[in-house]
Amino acid sequence: MAEKLTAVKGMNDILPPDSARWEWLEDKVRVLMGRYAYRNIRTPILEHTQLFVRGIGEVTDIVEKEMYSFEDRADKNGAHDHLTMRPENTASVVRAVTEHNMLYDGGKRLYYMGPMFRRERPQRGRYRQFHQIGAEALGFAGAEVDAELILLAVALWKELGLSDWRLEINSLGQPEERAQHRAQLIAHFEQNADLLDEEARRRLHSNPLRILDSKNPAMKAVIESAPRLIDFLGVPSLAHFESLKTILDANGIAWTLNHRLVRGLDYYNLTVFEFVTDRLGAQGTICAGGRYDYLIEQMGGKPAPAVGWALGVERVLELLKGQTDVVVTPAPDAYAVIAESSALPAASVALQALRAAGIRVQMHGSTTADGMGSMKSQFKKADGSGARFALIFGADELAQGCVAVKPLRSGKSDLTPSQSLQRLDDIAAWSDTLRS
Ligand code: ATP
Ligand code: MG
Repeated sequence: MAEKLTAVKGMNDILPPDSARWEWLEDKVRVLMGRYAYRNIRTPILEHTQLFVRGIGEVTDIVEKEMYSFEDRADKNGAHDHLTMRPENTASVVRAVTEHNMLYDGGKRLYYMGPMFRRERPQRGRYRQFHQIGAEALGFAGAEVDAELILLAVALWKELGLSDWRLEINSLGQPEERAQHRAQLIAHFEQNADLLDEEARRRLHSNPLRILDSKNPAMKAVIESAPRLIDFLGVPSLAHFESLKTILDANGIAWTLNHRLVRGLDYYNLTVFEFVTDRLGAQGTICAGGRYDYLIEQMGGKPAPAVGWALGVERVLELLKGQTDVVVTPAPDAYAVIAESSALPAASVALQALRAAGIRVQMHGSTTADGMGSMKSQFKKADGSGARFALIFGADELAQGCVAVKPLRSGKSDLTPSQSLQRLDDIAAWSDTLRS
């Protein structure tokens, strides 16, 4: 036998029955996004590498070491494209919104779902292909939209039956405020340089804010004692933060202020937030986002404010595992047992009509080339399918233009004689019986 092939490390197959949980979550998201008037956007998985370098920032974990990038084959002029599998979707959304001039008639509320790629060390809740669902509101400056996005996420947790989360918020202020804070922050870390790890020392001058986001426990104290960004914010920044908090409070949403919350991406300003849980170990952030008022301009678009979040689908589903078992793949309504291959044309026509009427029908599939298999083995499959009824396409029944219907599940009342023998051409009566 040929050698077995396996999936790429850190990239998972999503198989039934587990895939039903994914569909269940995605369906809930679609309905909810509709209620908040967010519309779906789908951008390509491959983008020019430059999009992420410019969009996410050169001195970030993602761009420094996590991207799947490659040089495309040369075109006929010998030029190569540098391409990257998207590690996140905000940069792409901004590109698309700018490229298609989507903000010409006002702000847009958008959402996406799909795979993202980061070359991280795989572990529980951290994969190399993972999935995000994200919501972005572009062209809106007010804190009410920051609040709307947070309320939308909270509504989603409620819909999903997820209760084990807390909301952390912070404000990163505006670039000038950050610049003042940055100088003080560098001074603080320089005074304590011996307490910094290698990565922090390297980022001390390029991206000191990111040191606050470090997960190294040895640096906890030096980070706790660092100057706080919030103390550098001016009146408008504080007012924005206050109106967000007031709306959250009015809605009874509990939040905590986390001064160390700076987010791993460079593009944020003013509001940043994370939904976190203690039940997933180190990978406790299930949803994260914030405002990025300067990104659109930085990407070559007409200046416009924006805010958004992204949630990690794997982490949310992992959390739900312990909390609900609401997702069951529904069994088919009926299983079609087909005595002889000669019955297949007539049976397939009847099954098509039933399905068009909304009945879920699983047809027996032969496993060998020489016929449909014994009735005994077909009934065994019918039982195993979980279907409530078997439909028996036997020669005698077909000769009368009929099919036999047999209840498979105990507890189901017996069918009347007329229900047990349905006319192939009376789909309405037949499907009513199967729905009963
Ligand atoms: P972390 O701090 O866990 O590395 P991050 O700040 O890199 O997260 P974002 O880029 O903000 O994460 O992505 C939003 C969400 O996507 C995260 O909160 C998390 O739930 C999920 N996520 C990010 N990276 C991964 C990954 N490699 N595997 C699974 N989920 C991920
Ligand atoms: Mg990360």
